[in-house]
Amino acid sequence: MKRVVIIGGGIGGLATAYSLREHQAKGADFEIVVLEKNSRVGGNIRTEKIDGFLIEGGPDCFLSEKPWAMELCKRLGLAEELLPTNEENRKTFVLSGGRLHELPEGVVLMIPTRILPLLTSSLISLPGKLRMALEPFVPKRAGKGDESLGDFVRRRLGKEALDKIAEPLVAGVHAGDPETMSIRSSFPKFVQLEEEHGSLIKGMVKRMALSKKSSKPVAPGKKITMFLTLRGGLSDLIDTLAARLQALGRTSIRTGKAVTSVTKKGGGYMVNIEGEPPLEADAVIIAAPAYAASRLIRSIDGELADRLMTIPYVSTATVSLAFKRRDVAHPLKGFGFVVPKTEKRKIMAATWTSMKFKHRAPEDSVLIRCFVGGSKDSDLVSLGDTEMIMAVRDELREIMGIDAAPVLVRVYRWINSMPQYTIGHQERVEWIEDRIAREKGLFLTGSAYHGIGISDSIRTGEVVAKKALHFLAF
Ligand SMILES: Cc1cc2nc3c(=O)[nH]c(=O)nc-3n(C[C@H](O)[C@H](O)[C@H](O)COP(=O)(O)OP(=O)(O)OC[C@H]3O[C@@H](n4cnc5c(N)ncnc54)[C@H](O)[C@@H]3O)c2cc1C
Repeated sequence: MKRVVIIGGGIGGLATAYSLREHQAKGADFEIVVLEKNSRVGGNIRTEKIDGFLIEGGPDCFLSEKPWAMELCKRLGLAEELLPTNEENRKTFVLSGGRLHELPEGVVLMIPTRILPLLTSSLISLPGKLRMALEPFVPKRAGKGDESLGDFVRRRLGKEALDKIAEPLVAGVHAGDPETMSIRSSFPKFVQLEEEHGSLIKGMVKRMALSKKSSKPVAPGKKITMFLTLRGGLSDLIDTLAARLQALGRTSIRTGKAVTSVTKKGGGYMVNIEGEPPLEADAVIIAAPAYAASRLIRSIDGELADRLMTIPYVSTATVSLAFKRRDVAHPLKGFGFVVPKTEKRKIMAATWTSMKFKHRAPEDSVLIRCFVGGSKDSDLVSLGDTEMIMAVRDELREIMGIDAAPVLVRVYRWINSMPQYTIGHQERVEWIEDRIAREKGLFLTGSAYHGIGISDSIRTGEVVAKKALHFLAF
Protein backbone atom coordinates (compact mmCIF):
# COMPACT_ATOMS: atom_id res chain seq x y z
CA MET A 1 0.00 0.00 0.00
CA LYS A 2 1.29 3.46 -0.85
CA ARG A 3 2.11 5.78 2.05
CA VAL A 4 1.73 9.56 2.37
CA VAL A 5 3.60 11.17 5.24
CA ILE A 6 2.45 14.58 6.44
CA ILE A 7 4.97 16.47 8.57
CA GLY A 8 3.24 18.83 11.02
CA GLY A 9 -0.03 18.28 12.86
CA GLY A 10 -1.31 21.85 12.90
CA ILE A 11 -4.58 22.76 11.18
CA GLY A 12 -2.67 22.86 7.87
CA GLY A 13 -1.44 19.25 8.15
CA LEU A 14 -4.69 17.83 9.52
CA ALA A 15 -6.87 19.62 6.96
CA THR A 16 -4.61 18.28 4.19
CA ALA A 17 -4.97 14.74 5.54
CA TYR A 18 -8.74 15.07 5.73
CA SER A 19 -8.93 16.46 2.23
CA LEU A 20 -6.88 13.50 0.94
CA ARG A 21 -9.53 11.20 2.39
CA GLU A 22 -12.45 13.31 1.19
CA HIS A 23 -11.23 13.42 -2.38
CA GLN A 24 -9.58 10.03 -2.80
CA ALA A 25 -10.92 8.02 -5.70
CA LYS A 26 -13.14 5.00 -4.96
CA GLY A 27 -10.92 1.98 -4.40
CA ALA A 28 -7.75 4.05 -3.98
CA ASP A 29 -5.78 2.60 -1.14
CA PHE A 30 -3.05 4.48 0.67
CA GLU A 31 -1.93 4.99 4.21
CA ILE A 32 -1.59 8.44 5.78
CA VAL A 33 0.86 9.07 8.61
CA VAL A 34 0.86 12.49 10.28
CA LEU A 35 4.04 13.19 12.27
CA GLU A 36 3.89 15.96 14.85
CA LYS A 37 6.91 16.90 16.95
CA ASN A 38 4.92 18.21 19.92
CA SER A 39 3.04 16.06 22.37
CA ARG A 40 -0.28 17.39 21.05
CA VAL A 41 -1.68 18.21 17.63
CA GLY A 42 -3.11 21.63 16.72
CA GLY A 43 0.06 23.71 16.33
CA ASN A 44 -0.90 27.30 17.10
CA ILE A 45 -4.46 26.29 17.97
CA ARG A 46 -4.74 25.58 21.68
CA THR A 47 -7.84 25.90 23.84
CA GLU A 48 -7.74 25.43 27.60
CA LYS A 49 -10.71 25.20 29.93
CA ILE A 50 -9.87 26.27 33.47
CA ASP A 51 -12.27 27.05 36.36
CA GLY A 52 -15.17 27.84 34.06
CA PHE A 53 -13.07 29.98 31.68
CA LEU A 54 -12.43 29.02 28.07
CA ILE A 55 -9.04 30.39 27.07
CA GLU A 56 -7.65 30.42 23.55
CA GLY A 57 -3.86 30.48 23.69
CA GLY A 58 -3.47 31.16 19.96
CA PRO A 59 -6.19 31.95 17.42
CA ASP A 60 -9.61 32.72 18.86
CA CYS A 61 -11.72 32.85 15.69
CA PHE A 62 -11.70 32.73 11.90
CA LEU A 63 -12.96 35.10 9.25
CA SER A 64 -16.31 34.04 7.78
CA GLU A 65 -15.59 35.94 4.59
CA LYS A 66 -12.97 33.28 3.81
CA PRO A 67 -15.35 30.31 3.89
CA TRP A 68 -12.98 27.34 4.08
CA ALA A 69 -12.86 27.01 7.88
CA MET A 70 -16.62 27.37 8.20
CA GLU A 71 -17.19 24.87 5.40
CA LEU A 72 -14.83 22.36 7.00
CA CYS A 73 -16.65 22.74 10.33
CA LYS A 74 -19.93 22.01 8.58
CA ARG A 75 -18.53 18.92 6.84
CA LEU A 76 -17.28 17.68 10.20
CA GLY A 77 -20.75 18.06 11.70
CA LEU A 78 -19.83 21.14 13.74
CA ALA A 79 -22.33 23.58 12.14
CA GLU A 80 -24.39 23.72 15.32
CA GLU A 81 -21.25 24.54 17.31
CA LEU A 82 -20.34 27.60 15.23
CA LEU A 83 -20.47 30.63 17.47
CA PRO A 84 -20.96 34.16 16.15
CA THR A 85 -19.68 37.26 17.90
CA ASN A 86 -21.97 39.14 20.30
CA GLU A 87 -23.17 41.76 17.84
CA GLU A 88 -24.59 44.00 20.58
CA ASN A 89 -20.99 44.63 21.65
CA ARG A 90 -19.62 45.08 18.14
CA LYS A 91 -17.30 47.99 18.70
CA THR A 92 -13.55 48.25 18.53
CA PHE A 93 -11.50 50.91 20.26
CA VAL A 94 -8.18 52.44 19.32
CA LEU A 95 -5.74 53.87 21.83
CA SER A 96 -4.75 57.38 20.79
CA GLY A 97 -3.14 60.01 23.00
CA GLY A 98 -3.44 57.56 25.92
CA ARG A 99 -7.25 57.38 25.59
CA LEU A 100 -9.55 54.79 24.03
CA HIS A 101 -11.51 56.12 21.05
CA GLU A 102 -14.20 54.16 19.26
CA LEU A 103 -13.24 53.07 15.78
CA PRO A 104 -15.82 54.90 13.64
CA GLU A 105 -18.79 52.66 12.89
CA GLY A 106 -18.71 51.42 9.30
CA VAL A 107 -14.90 51.13 9.13
CA VAL A 108 -14.43 47.66 7.63
CA LEU A 109 -10.88 46.41 8.12
CA MET A 110 -9.50 49.89 7.44
CA ILE A 111 -11.94 51.25 4.89
CA PRO A 112 -14.58 53.78 5.95
CA THR A 113 -17.97 52.87 4.45
CA ARG A 114 -20.13 55.41 6.32
CA ILE A 115 -19.52 59.11 6.30
CA LEU A 116 -21.38 60.34 9.43
CA PRO A 117 -19.59 58.15 12.01
CA LEU A 118 -16.28 59.09 10.39
CA LEU A 119 -17.08 62.82 10.58
CA THR A 120 -18.08 62.63 14.25
CA SER A 121 -15.20 60.37 15.32
CA SER A 122 -12.84 61.59 18.05
CA LEU A 123 -10.10 59.30 16.76
CA ILE A 124 -9.15 61.11 13.56
CA SER A 125 -8.35 64.83 13.22
CA LEU A 126 -10.36 66.98 10.79
CA PRO A 127 -7.58 67.07 8.15
CA GLY A 128 -7.24 63.27 8.58
CA LYS A 129 -10.99 62.79 8.01
CA LEU A 130 -10.96 64.99 4.91
CA ARG A 131 -8.01 63.07 3.54
CA MET A 132 -9.83 59.76 4.07
CA ALA A 133 -12.99 61.11 2.48
CA LEU A 134 -10.98 62.07 -0.62
CA GLU A 135 -10.03 58.43 -1.24
CA PRO A 136 -12.55 57.88 -4.08
CA PHE A 137 -10.82 60.69 -6.00
CA VAL A 138 -7.29 59.34 -5.63
CA PRO A 139 -6.23 57.93 -9.02
CA LYS A 140 -5.41 54.25 -9.37
CA ARG A 141 -1.75 53.31 -9.12
CA ALA A 142 -0.20 53.00 -12.57
CA GLY A 143 2.38 50.27 -11.81
CA LYS A 144 1.50 46.63 -11.17
CA GLY A 145 4.47 45.81 -8.92
CA ASP A 146 4.20 45.02 -5.23
CA GLU A 147 3.93 47.82 -2.66
CA SER A 148 4.17 47.95 1.13
CA LEU A 149 0.98 48.16 3.18
CA GLY A 150 2.32 51.46 4.54
CA ASP A 151 2.79 53.04 1.10
CA PHE A 152 -0.55 51.72 -0.10
CA VAL A 153 -2.56 53.15 2.81
CA ARG A 154 -0.71 56.50 2.83
CA ARG A 155 -1.36 56.83 -0.91
CA ARG A 156 -5.06 55.95 -0.75
CA LEU A 157 -6.26 57.08 2.70
CA GLY A 158 -3.50 59.25 4.18
CA LYS A 159 -0.94 59.00 6.96
CA GLU A 160 -3.38 59.31 9.86
CA ALA A 161 -5.46 56.40 8.57
CA LEU A 162 -2.26 54.36 8.44
CA ASP A 163 -1.04 55.31 11.92
CA LYS A 164 -4.35 55.09 13.76
CA ILE A 165 -6.31 52.45 11.85
CA ALA A 166 -4.42 50.32 9.34
CA GLU A 167 -1.24 49.81 11.33
CA PRO A 168 -2.83 48.65 14.59
CA LEU A 169 -5.85 46.94 13.08
CA VAL A 170 -4.64 45.39 9.88
CA ALA A 171 -0.91 44.99 10.46
CA GLY A 172 -1.83 43.82 13.97
CA VAL A 173 -3.49 40.69 12.56
CA HIS A 174 -0.12 39.70 11.09
CA ALA A 175 1.88 41.11 14.01
CA GLY A 176 3.73 42.76 11.13
CA ASP A 177 5.44 45.98 10.13
CA PRO A 178 3.36 47.88 7.54
CA GLU A 179 6.51 49.32 5.96
CA THR A 180 7.75 45.86 4.95
CA MET A 181 4.47 43.95 4.54
CA SER A 182 3.41 43.17 0.99
CA ILE A 183 -0.02 44.60 0.23
CA ARG A 184 -0.43 42.16 -2.66
CA SER A 185 0.17 39.03 -0.56
CA SER A 186 -1.16 40.15 2.81
CA PHE A 187 -4.30 41.95 1.63
CA PRO A 188 -4.95 41.00 -2.00
CA LYS A 189 -8.55 42.13 -1.55
CA PHE A 190 -7.49 45.77 -1.13
CA VAL A 191 -5.44 45.65 -4.34
CA GLN A 192 -8.39 44.05 -6.13
CA LEU A 193 -10.77 46.76 -4.87
CA GLU A 194 -8.45 49.45 -6.21
CA GLU A 195 -7.98 47.66 -9.53
CA GLU A 196 -11.68 46.89 -10.06
CA HIS A 197 -13.35 49.97 -8.63
CA GLY A 198 -10.61 52.60 -8.66
CA SER A 199 -11.39 53.17 -4.97
CA LEU A 200 -11.42 51.14 -1.75
CA ILE A 201 -14.45 53.00 -0.40
CA LYS A 202 -16.57 52.62 -3.55
CA GLY A 203 -15.57 48.98 -3.94
CA MET A 204 -16.22 48.06 -0.32
CA VAL A 205 -19.66 49.74 -0.29
CA LYS A 206 -20.65 47.80 -3.44
CA ARG A 207 -19.37 44.50 -2.04
CA MET A 208 -21.21 44.98 1.23
CA ALA A 209 -24.47 45.65 -0.58
CA LEU A 210 -23.98 42.45 -2.62
CA SER A 211 -23.05 40.26 0.33
CA LYS A 212 -26.07 41.50 2.34
CA LYS A 213 -28.33 40.30 -0.46
CA SER A 214 -26.72 36.88 -0.74
CA SER A 215 -25.90 36.09 2.90
CA LYS A 216 -27.39 32.87 4.29
CA PRO A 217 -27.38 31.71 7.92
CA VAL A 218 -24.63 29.19 8.84
CA ALA A 219 -27.21 26.85 10.27
CA PRO A 220 -30.95 27.41 10.74
CA GLY A 221 -31.39 30.37 13.08
CA LYS A 222 -27.62 31.07 13.24
CA LYS A 223 -26.15 34.33 12.07
CA ILE A 224 -22.88 34.63 10.20
CA THR A 225 -20.81 37.38 11.73
CA MET A 226 -17.49 38.64 10.40
CA PHE A 227 -15.65 36.46 12.91
CA LEU A 228 -16.78 33.00 13.94
CA THR A 229 -15.50 30.49 16.43
CA LEU A 230 -16.66 27.24 17.99
CA ARG A 231 -18.66 27.20 21.19
CA GLY A 232 -16.22 24.77 22.81
CA GLY A 233 -13.14 26.57 21.45
CA LEU A 234 -11.07 26.09 18.32
CA SER A 235 -9.41 22.93 19.69
CA ASP A 236 -12.77 21.26 18.98
CA LEU A 237 -11.97 21.61 15.28
CA ILE A 238 -8.59 19.94 15.81
CA ASP A 239 -9.95 17.17 18.05
CA THR A 240 -12.85 16.43 15.71
CA LEU A 241 -10.56 16.34 12.68
CA ALA A 242 -8.07 14.06 14.42
CA ALA A 243 -10.80 11.71 15.67
CA ARG A 244 -12.51 11.60 12.27
CA LEU A 245 -9.23 10.89 10.49
CA GLN A 246 -8.38 8.04 12.81
CA ALA A 247 -11.89 6.59 12.52
CA LEU A 248 -11.56 6.51 8.73
CA GLY A 249 -8.81 3.88 9.06
CA ARG A 250 -5.38 3.59 7.43
CA THR A 251 -4.54 6.93 9.02
CA SER A 252 -2.35 7.43 12.04
CA ILE A 253 -1.47 10.60 13.87
CA ARG A 254 1.76 10.23 15.81
CA THR A 255 2.73 12.93 18.28
CA GLY A 256 6.15 13.43 19.83
CA LYS A 257 7.78 12.59 16.47
CA ALA A 258 10.23 15.27 15.33
CA VAL A 259 11.26 14.83 11.72
CA THR A 260 14.94 15.66 11.20
CA SER A 261 15.19 15.40 7.41
CA VAL A 262 13.60 14.07 4.27
CA THR A 263 15.89 12.27 1.83
CA LYS A 264 15.31 10.58 -1.49
CA LYS A 265 15.14 6.81 -1.77
CA GLY A 266 14.46 5.07 -5.05
CA GLY A 267 11.41 6.73 -6.57
CA GLY A 268 10.17 7.85 -3.15
CA TYR A 269 11.39 9.37 0.10
CA MET A 270 12.80 8.47 3.45
CA VAL A 271 11.42 10.48 6.37
CA ASN A 272 14.00 10.56 9.15
CA ILE A 273 12.64 10.86 12.67
CA GLU A 274 14.57 11.75 15.82
CA GLY A 275 15.32 8.64 17.87
CA GLU A 276 13.34 6.28 15.61
CA PRO A 277 13.81 4.22 12.49
CA PRO A 278 13.04 6.19 9.32
CA LEU A 279 9.72 5.87 7.53
CA GLU A 280 9.49 5.20 3.81
CA ALA A 281 6.98 7.29 1.88
CA ASP A 282 5.68 7.55 -1.67
CA ALA A 283 4.65 11.16 -1.08
CA VAL A 284 5.64 13.68 1.60
CA ILE A 285 3.65 16.79 2.48
CA ILE A 286 5.49 19.27 4.70
CA ALA A 287 2.97 21.26 6.73
CA ALA A 288 5.53 22.81 9.08
CA PRO A 289 6.73 26.46 9.07
CA ALA A 290 8.91 27.48 6.09
CA TYR A 291 12.11 27.57 8.18
CA ALA A 292 11.40 24.02 9.40
CA ALA A 293 10.69 22.87 5.82
CA SER A 294 14.02 24.44 4.82
CA ARG A 295 15.95 22.28 7.30
CA LEU A 296 14.06 19.15 6.27
CA ILE A 297 14.71 19.36 2.52
CA ARG A 298 18.24 20.84 2.53
CA SER A 299 19.90 17.65 1.34
CA ILE A 300 17.44 17.41 -1.57
CA ASP A 301 17.74 21.02 -2.81
CA GLY A 302 20.01 23.49 -1.02
CA GLU A 303 18.91 26.48 -3.08
CA LEU A 304 15.25 25.80 -2.34
CA ALA A 305 16.14 25.44 1.35
CA ASP A 306 17.84 28.87 1.22
CA ARG A 307 14.80 30.44 -0.44
CA LEU A 308 12.45 28.98 2.20
CA MET A 309 14.55 30.73 4.84
CA THR A 310 13.74 34.10 3.23
CA ILE A 311 10.17 33.92 4.57
CA PRO A 312 10.62 35.65 7.92
CA TYR A 313 8.69 34.82 11.09
CA VAL A 314 7.96 36.85 14.22
CA SER A 315 7.17 35.77 17.76
CA THR A 316 4.17 36.81 19.83
CA ALA A 317 2.65 35.99 23.18
CA THR A 318 -0.89 36.14 24.49
CA VAL A 319 -1.64 36.85 28.11
CA SER A 320 -5.18 36.04 29.24
CA LEU A 321 -6.34 37.57 32.52
CA ALA A 322 -9.61 36.86 34.30
CA PHE A 323 -11.17 39.32 36.74
CA LYS A 324 -14.29 39.43 38.84
CA ARG A 325 -16.72 41.69 36.94
CA ARG A 326 -17.25 43.80 40.08
CA ASP A 327 -13.51 44.61 40.11
CA VAL A 328 -13.57 46.12 36.62
CA ALA A 329 -15.24 49.53 36.48
CA HIS A 330 -14.75 49.85 32.73
CA PRO A 331 -18.04 49.30 30.83
CA LEU A 332 -16.35 46.85 28.37
CA LYS A 333 -18.87 47.64 25.65
CA GLY A 334 -16.92 46.27 22.74
CA PHE A 335 -14.64 43.54 21.44
CA GLY A 336 -11.51 45.25 22.75
CA PHE A 337 -8.89 47.72 21.58
CA VAL A 338 -5.84 47.98 19.37
CA VAL A 339 -2.71 49.97 20.10
CA PRO A 340 -0.92 51.97 17.37
CA LYS A 341 2.87 51.75 17.35
CA THR A 342 3.01 55.51 17.89
CA GLU A 343 1.56 55.02 21.40
CA LYS A 344 4.76 53.15 22.41
CA ARG A 345 3.02 50.62 24.65
CA LYS A 346 3.96 47.09 25.65
CA ILE A 347 0.80 45.49 24.27
CA MET A 348 -0.36 45.43 20.62
CA ALA A 349 -4.02 44.83 21.39
CA ALA A 350 -6.45 43.51 23.96
CA THR A 351 -9.55 41.44 23.28
CA TRP A 352 -12.41 41.65 25.76
CA THR A 353 -12.95 37.98 25.14
CA SER A 354 -16.02 37.46 27.32
CA MET A 355 -17.75 40.39 25.61
CA LYS A 356 -16.81 39.26 22.10
CA PHE A 357 -18.05 35.67 22.51
CA LYS A 358 -20.49 33.90 24.79
CA HIS A 359 -19.40 30.89 26.90
CA ARG A 360 -15.92 32.26 27.64
CA ALA A 361 -16.24 33.18 31.34
CA PRO A 362 -18.59 32.57 34.29
CA GLU A 363 -21.39 35.18 34.62
CA ASP A 364 -19.68 37.09 37.44
CA SER A 365 -16.30 37.31 35.67
CA VAL A 366 -14.61 38.81 32.63
CA LEU A 367 -11.80 37.49 30.47
CA ILE A 368 -9.33 39.83 28.75
CA ARG A 369 -6.60 38.69 26.38
CA CYS A 370 -3.60 40.86 25.56
CA PHE A 371 -1.14 40.49 22.68
CA VAL A 372 2.55 41.08 23.25
CA GLY A 373 5.47 41.07 20.79
CA GLY A 374 5.18 40.90 17.01
CA SER A 375 7.46 42.85 14.69
CA LYS A 376 7.06 45.92 16.94
CA ASP A 377 8.44 44.38 20.10
CA SER A 378 9.69 40.84 19.53
CA ASP A 379 12.00 41.11 22.58
CA LEU A 380 9.05 41.34 24.97
CA VAL A 381 8.14 37.73 24.19
CA SER A 382 11.28 36.57 25.98
CA LEU A 383 10.34 38.28 29.26
CA GLY A 384 9.73 35.84 32.11
CA ASP A 385 6.09 35.16 33.00
CA THR A 386 6.14 37.39 36.09
CA GLU A 387 7.64 40.33 34.22
CA MET A 388 5.31 39.87 31.26
CA ILE A 389 2.24 39.70 33.47
CA MET A 390 3.38 42.79 35.39
CA ALA A 391 3.91 44.69 32.12
CA VAL A 392 0.46 43.71 30.86
CA ARG A 393 -1.23 44.59 34.16
CA ASP A 394 0.49 48.01 34.14
CA GLU A 395 -0.94 48.64 30.68
CA LEU A 396 -4.45 47.55 31.67
CA ARG A 397 -4.25 49.78 34.74
CA GLU A 398 -3.23 52.84 32.71
CA ILE A 399 -5.50 52.23 29.72
CA MET A 400 -8.61 50.73 31.33
CA GLY A 401 -8.19 51.60 35.02
CA ILE A 402 -8.07 47.95 36.13
CA ASP A 403 -6.27 47.86 39.47
CA ALA A 404 -7.58 44.59 40.85
CA ALA A 405 -5.54 41.40 40.91
CA PRO A 406 -6.64 38.88 38.28
CA VAL A 407 -8.22 35.67 39.54
CA LEU A 408 -6.49 33.70 36.77
CA VAL A 409 -3.62 34.41 34.37
CA ARG A 410 -2.31 32.31 31.49
CA VAL A 411 0.69 33.14 29.28
CA TYR A 412 1.22 31.47 25.90
CA ARG A 413 4.37 32.13 23.89
CA TRP A 414 4.36 31.61 20.14
CA ILE A 415 7.99 31.63 19.06
CA ASN A 416 8.61 32.20 15.33
CA SER A 417 5.00 31.37 14.68
CA MET A 418 3.72 34.21 12.49
CA PRO A 419 5.02 34.19 8.90
CA GLN A 420 5.53 37.64 7.44
CA TYR A 421 4.49 38.25 3.86
CA THR A 422 7.03 40.93 3.04
CA ILE A 423 7.30 42.83 -0.27
CA GLY A 424 7.96 40.35 -3.10
CA HIS A 425 6.32 37.44 -1.22
CA GLN A 426 4.26 36.37 -4.22
CA GLU A 427 7.32 36.06 -6.50
CA ARG A 428 9.21 34.26 -3.71
CA VAL A 429 6.39 31.71 -3.33
CA GLU A 430 6.06 31.26 -7.10
CA TRP A 431 9.77 30.48 -7.27
CA ILE A 432 9.51 28.04 -4.35
CA GLU A 433 6.51 26.28 -5.89
CA ASP A 434 8.13 25.96 -9.32
CA ARG A 435 11.15 24.47 -7.66
CA ILE A 436 9.32 22.01 -5.37
CA ALA A 437 7.30 20.84 -8.39
CA ARG A 438 10.56 19.32 -9.73
CA GLU A 439 10.54 16.90 -6.79
CA LYS A 440 7.75 14.53 -7.72
CA GLY A 441 5.76 13.54 -4.65
CA LEU A 442 7.11 16.29 -2.38
CA PHE A 443 4.73 19.10 -1.37
CA LEU A 444 4.65 22.16 0.88
CA THR A 445 1.61 23.52 2.68
CA GLY A 446 0.71 25.60 5.75
CA SER A 447 0.39 29.28 6.50
CA ALA A 448 3.76 30.35 5.07
CA TYR A 449 2.63 30.68 1.48
CA HIS A 450 -0.95 31.63 0.55
CA GLY A 451 -2.58 33.27 3.57
CA ILE A 452 -1.66 33.38 7.23
CA GLY A 453 -5.03 32.59 8.83
CA ILE A 454 -6.81 29.35 9.66
CA SER A 455 -9.15 29.50 6.68
CA ASP A 456 -6.34 30.06 4.19
CA SER A 457 -4.30 27.26 5.77
CA ILE A 458 -7.25 24.92 5.23
CA ARG A 459 -7.73 26.08 1.62
CA THR A 460 -4.00 25.69 0.86
CA GLY A 461 -4.11 22.18 2.35
CA GLU A 462 -7.05 21.27 0.14
CA VAL A 463 -5.22 22.45 -3.00
CA VAL A 464 -2.10 20.49 -2.05
CA ALA A 465 -4.15 17.36 -1.22
CA LYS A 466 -5.59 17.38 -4.73
CA LYS A 467 -2.08 17.68 -6.23
CA ALA A 468 -0.88 14.79 -4.06
CA LEU A 469 -3.85 12.61 -5.07
CA HIS A 470 -3.11 13.32 -8.72
CA PHE A 471 0.49 12.26 -8.12
CA LEU A 472 -0.53 9.07 -6.27
CA ALA A 473 -2.93 8.06 -9.03
CA PHE A 474 -0.07 7.70 -11.54
C1 LIG B 1 -1.07 34.18 18.74
C2 LIG B 1 -1.70 33.84 17.42
C3 LIG B 1 -3.00 34.24 17.16
C4 LIG B 1 -3.59 33.93 15.94
N1 LIG B 1 -4.89 34.30 15.74
C5 LIG B 1 -5.53 33.89 14.63
C6 LIG B 1 -6.95 34.08 14.51
O1 LIG B 1 -7.61 34.60 15.42
N2 LIG B 1 -7.55 33.65 13.38
C7 LIG B 1 -6.85 33.01 12.37
O2 LIG B 1 -7.45 32.64 11.36
N3 LIG B 1 -5.52 32.78 12.49
C8 LIG B 1 -4.85 33.18 13.58
N4 LIG B 1 -3.52 32.90 13.74
C9 LIG B 1 -2.84 32.16 12.66
C10 LIG B 1 -3.15 30.66 12.74
O3 LIG B 1 -2.70 30.21 13.98
C11 LIG B 1 -2.47 29.93 11.60
O4 LIG B 1 -3.04 30.31 10.37
C12 LIG B 1 -2.62 28.41 11.64
O5 LIG B 1 -2.67 27.91 12.93
C13 LIG B 1 -1.46 27.82 10.85
O6 LIG B 1 -1.55 26.44 10.86
P1 LIG B 1 -0.36 25.55 10.29
O7 LIG B 1 -0.78 24.15 10.43
O8 LIG B 1 0.05 26.05 8.97
O9 LIG B 1 0.89 25.87 11.24
P2 LIG B 1 1.17 25.51 12.75
O10 LIG B 1 -0.02 25.71 13.59
O11 LIG B 1 2.42 26.26 13.08
O12 LIG B 1 1.50 23.95 12.72
C14 LIG B 1 2.71 23.44 12.24
C15 LIG B 1 3.03 22.19 13.03
O13 LIG B 1 4.23 21.61 12.52
C16 LIG B 1 4.92 21.04 13.60
N5 LIG B 1 6.31 20.83 13.21
C17 LIG B 1 7.25 21.78 12.95
N6 LIG B 1 8.43 21.19 12.65
C18 LIG B 1 8.23 19.85 12.71
C19 LIG B 1 9.09 18.73 12.51
N7 LIG B 1 10.37 18.86 12.19
N8 LIG B 1 8.55 17.49 12.67
C20 LIG B 1 7.25 17.32 13.00
N9 LIG B 1 6.41 18.37 13.22
C21 LIG B 1 6.88 19.62 13.06
C22 LIG B 1 4.74 22.07 14.71
O14 LIG B 1 5.01 21.52 15.98
C23 LIG B 1 3.28 22.47 14.52
O15 LIG B 1 2.41 21.69 15.30
C24 LIG B 1 -2.87 33.22 14.94
C25 LIG B 1 -1.56 32.81 15.20
C26 LIG B 1 -0.97 33.11 16.43
C27 LIG B 1 0.43 32.65 16.70
